Amino acid sequence: MDLTEEQIGRYNRHIIIPNIGRTGQKKFLGGKVLVVGAGGLGSPILYYLTAAGVGKIGIVDNDSVDLSNLQRQIVHFTDDLEQPKTQSAVSKLKNLNPDVSFQTYQHRLVPGNAVELFDEYDFVVDGTDNFATKFLINDAAVLTSTPYSHAGVLRLQGQTMTHLPGASCLRCIFPQPPDPQAVPSCRQAGVLGAVAGILGTIQAAETLKYLLGYGELLDNKLLLVNVEKMNFQRVSIKQNSSCPVCSNKASITDLRKVNYEKPVSDL
Ligand SMILES: [Zn+2]
Repeated sequence: MDLTEEQIGRYNRHIIIPNIGRTGQKKFLGGKVLVVGAGGLGSPILYYLTAAGVGKIGIVDNDSVDLSNLQRQIVHFTDDLEQPKTQSAVSKLKNLNPDVSFQTYQHRLVPGNAVELFDEYDFVVDGTDNFATKFLINDAAVLTSTPYSHAGVLRLQGQTMTHLPGASCLRCIFPQPPDPQAVPSCRQAGVLGAVAGILGTIQAAETLKYLLGYGELLDNKLLLVNVEKMNFQRVSIKQNSSCPVCSNKASITDLRKVNYEKPVSDL
């Protein structure tokens, strides 16, 4: 399929980049990306992937828009209060780019649906705000050989990495989720809205580079972002030979047997 005149106009600033061109833009249009969470990270991720013309975008979120979301979750407006986040997001995104088709999943990502869902997409983006789902995304991505982008934010800090099949995963660094009592969440500790914007935008750029097959990704690297000091630090990470999910000593082979709500000491 060739680009239409309208598409050549819309995506001109991509097409004139030598390493993108019309071929790269067609890769975006043929891409299928699943975004888990339509919140603080999900908002910039969804805006940039939609504007870039990623052909199919899936959005998983079971939540509704709350007043306290609006300080950072910029895909939702004041008029959207109490609307399902999937519906609120898609109403803006459709208006931004009619080239994109959206599939919404208004339920939680759980061990029983993650593998089936991930199999339908080329790339997954973790825009969630809780450790249980972050580790579930990691494990489902490893088990289905799906590349994905991880990120987390808290107060004025964030971290992000990209997992590619065969490279290190989240559990290579953190073998199990921290005790929820020991680590505060955004709900308890807060987050500067723009920090979610920075990390989500990095995740969108990683997704687009993956679809293009161009550029250096954050695989085997953890990027630590400190907005208070405006310091970005990239740390090399190695695949852990005793990782509970991606090594040949893996104990996690069936997601339904893992209790994601409570850290399990023998993982
Ligand atoms: Zn691993």
